[in-house]
Amino acid sequence: MNYSSPWMTPELATFRDAIRRFVDAEVVPHQERWAKQQHVDRELWRKGGEMGMLLADIPEEYGGSGGSFAHQAIVFEELTDAGDMAFGIHVHAIVAHYILNQGTEAQKKKYLPLLASGEMVAAIAMSEPGAGSDLKGIRTTALPDAYGYHVNGSKIFISNGYLADLIVVVAKTNPDAGAKGVSLMLVETRDCPGFKVGRILEKIGQKGQDTCELFFDDVRVPADAVLGGVEGRGFAQLMTELPYERTILGVSGVAAIERALRLTVEHTKQRKAFGQALIDMQNTRFVLAEIKTEATIARTFIDRCIVDMLEGRMDTELASMAKYWISDLQCKVIDQCLQLFGGYGYMLEYPIAQMYVDARVQRIYGGANEIMKEIISRSL
Ligand SMILES: Cc1cc2nc3c(=O)[nH]c(=O)nc-3n(C[C@H](O)[C@H](O)[C@H](O)COP(=O)(O)OP(=O)(O)OC[C@H]3O[C@@H](n4cnc5c(N)ncnc54)[C@H](O)[C@@H]3O)c2cc1C
Repeated sequence: MNYSSPWMTPELATFRDAIRRFVDAEVVPHQERWAKQQHVDRELWRKGGEMGMLLADIPEEYGGSGGSFAHQAIVFEELTDAGDMAFGIHVHAIVAHYILNQGTEAQKKKYLPLLASGEMVAAIAMSEPGAGSDLKGIRTTALPDAYGYHVNGSKIFISNGYLADLIVVVAKTNPDAGAKGVSLMLVETRDCPGFKVGRILEKIGQKGQDTCELFFDDVRVPADAVLGGVEGRGFAQLMTELPYERTILGVSGVAAIERALRLTVEHTKQRKAFGQALIDMQNTRFVLAEIKTEATIARTFIDRCIVDMLEGRMDTELASMAKYWISDLQCKVIDQCLQLFGGYGYMLEYPIAQMYVDARVQRIYGGANEIMKEIISRSL
């Protein structure tokens, strides 16, 4: 079957080769060590910056690489194909888009070049111990004072939390105003009295990703730290930017499905039982035939989403469909593939085992899949 994504070009193919070489040299050899230390090396961020992969789709005038969403999608595909879930470029790029699309000119000029070069690592802090899916329930506040704002509260499950220098914190600037009282605050964490990173959380997978608890105890931020410069726009900004995040999750999900299929075809061709290769058994062939069909459907769908992103018409509904449907499929497919590896599939030295534990959270973060269905159902 000869299929090439409609958005691919020769220039993008060259870019993909360069990213693959970078990932092979700078990511793959360190994965085990990162998993043990629970975070990537800060040096990786600088190297990624030099490579131009951190903000591949941010305009050059703000320090980005001036590419399109296709460039950024290729970065995510190649990281997934190398089994990497530690290098949090996803969240970093998401924050950059919040700043690009919602920030003031001064905020864009100040932060985007630093994020592009990897001098600053970014995180976004929405979830709290008492509020994840239901963000209206957040308790973190950023109350105005003579100087600017003081931030109080705590956040949980924050990706890049340990290394982050810039955190977009979802906070109530006016606790009496309901959804209209929520703002996104740009908090710089270096030399920041009152800011504390809690422990790096022990997860079942994605061990090299620094997912943390964060604490804000009267953290002072200046008056111009409100994203976009106007209070109360936080929810609207989240609603506008979440489709980018959800499309990215779909992009990585399809890359993971394709990798699982490839690894399993290879394994079942060389592994023998009952005097034949596993792939010669009808059940194996049927399972893999089903997976190949589903992978093709998923690829066609995500390619359509990528084109919609490129043409600026991606919407909340479609992004929610991509996030929920692909992550559900990813978990199902990887589970089926693992079964075909037998006992080896349960051993962490086999990538399929790692993929199994890494995949599970795809159905939870970025908005639980049930929330995605709520969003889609609003359009019925
Ligand atoms: C590894 C990891 C990384 C993360 N990174 C970040 C990050 O960088 N920044 C950040 O802000 N957050 C992050 N999160 C948090 C993540 O977004 C939340 O865990 C997620 O939104 C779910 O919120 P919750 O955990 O509070 O679950 P809850 O809100 O308690 O929901 C639990 C379950 O209840 C069900 N449910 C909830 N609401 C509904 C509903 N309306 N209808 C039907 N069913 C429902 C769903 O099954 C849901 O999974 C991360 C989480 C993990 C595990």
